[in-house]
Amino acid sequence: MTSLPPDQTAHSVPGHVVIVGLGPGSDDMITPEVHAALATATDVVGYIPYVNRVKPRKGLVLHASDNRVEIDRATHALQMAAAGRQVVVVSSGDPGVFAMASAVFEALEAGPSSWRTLDIRVLPGITAMLAAAAAIGAPLGHDFAAINLSDNLKPWALIERRLQLVVEAGLAMAFYNPRSKSRPHQFARALEVLRAACGEETLITFARDVTKPGQALLTVALRDATPEMADMRTVVIVGTRETRQVGKYVYTPRFAPGHNPGHKSGHTPDHMPDDTPEHLPASQSPSPSGQKEH
Ligand code: SAH
Repeated sequence: MTSLPPDQTAHSVPGHVVIVGLGPGSDDMITPEVHAALATATDVVGYIPYVNRVKPRKGLVLHASDNRVEIDRATHALQMAAAGRQVVVVSSGDPGVFAMASAVFEALEAGPSSWRTLDIRVLPGITAMLAAAAAIGAPLGHDFAAINLSDNLKPWALIERRLQLVVEAGLAMAFYNPRSKSRPHQFARALEVLRAACGEETLITFARDVTKPGQALLTVALRDATPEMADMRTVVIVGTRETRQVGKYVYTPRFAPGHNPGHKSGHTPDHMPDDTPEHLPASQSPSPSGQKEH
């Protein structure tokens, strides 16, 4: 990959846009391919705190912008790529999780058709919920849903409905953007909805500044959860009725309630085609489960 010096906008060298995730905070969680993309970029575009994580160097122009201007930022990135620049768009965590990847494709769809031949690549990163889940154990070890609790881009009524349906489906949940100064009351409402739908005993984890120096992890029963436990630097994980604590760890078993294959067959590695409990012989039929163990 060749990079252009900043004063050259030659059309002979095709520009590109690489949309990357910087992970949840620790530099150790930036993938090697993201480092490589940053090393050859001519321009880095993104929200101020994320651009601040990129080391300045000769030949690299940093374009830091305020929050909530995602489409302008995405359009700018595409314009620069069309002019031959090697542009990296930075997000925190994973760029496809409530971040810039979709914004770039929205701008692409709204822009000139000539942009559609641009080389656009998305490089994954470690998203906050997975870093948080790993820090406490395996609360997302069965099926789960990720929900953005911000109502900037969708009505609050839809968020409440989704919460209800996800609980009904028996999924664990991870909440992004749970509570901000501009919408302090909605998270309290979300907790009310959850208590009514999942019961007071369900475990909820507040994971703040995950992988950063001030990392704080707090797991309580929904009964004891208060809105102040969350802010915009927190990702919230709500377990299912099966989610439990073992020692200091929180985990959700891999099997659905009533489908515990037990330990007779030893382990069932996740690459085996027949590892789903439905495929087990009748002799290993499910034993009753679903009780929480604390
Ligand atoms: N693309 C990002 C999410 C951006 S939305 C990702 O994949 O992680 C921003 C929200 O992500 C925050 O409000 C918070 O809920 C969550 N978040 C991001 N980094 C976090 C961290 N280090 N610790 C806890 N939550 C984090």
